[in-house]
Amino acid sequence: MDKQDHTHEHAHDHHHEGCAHESAHAARALEALAAAEAHCATEGLKLTPIRRAVLEALYSTNRPMSAYETIDALAATTGKREAPVTIYRAFDFLLAAGLAHKLESRNAYIACPFHHMSNEPVMFLICESCGGVDETTSESLARALTGLVQAQGFSPRAQVIEIQGLCAHCRTTSE
Ligand SMILES: [Zn+2]
Ligand SMILES: [Zn+2]
Repeated sequence: MDKQDHTHEHAHDHHHEGCAHESAHAARALEALAAAEAHCATEGLKLTPIRRAVLEALYSTNRPMSAYETIDALAATTGKREAPVTIYRAFDFLLAAGLAHKLESRNAYIACPFHHMSNEPVMFLICESCGGVDETTSESLARALTGLVQAQGFSPRAQVIEIQGLCAHCRTTSE
């Protein structure tokens, strides 16, 4: 998947206990991880074991993960508790490499399968029921945001819009 691909199918399956989509989700996570490895190889970026492990943890869920949740997830598979500074360094790498985004409102991170650069405009649809987050963007949104930001003479570090509400899955199950 290259970053021109803005069709933005669900990046992550909505993950529910005992859901039949779980194996499909795991397969997609592996695929995304392979794509991330290829992206790093092309860009000359070094996906070290710890960076890869953190990315794998992010791909395992469609919910944003805090540093401490990531430490717990890694400890569950390796038995080793990483220091927060190690995890934050890995997050910094993933953000710079276009492999993850930060949700400022929750101080949490989510994998980006679209390899967006850190200053590219993206929108997150955050479900207040299941906690799932979907990512979307469009050329017109990007143009409009860039125009507004430039008109203010502002230099953006990140252009992330967070929309809170109910995802399509939770909307249908609550009806
Ligand atoms: Zn993204
Ligand atoms: Zn939901």
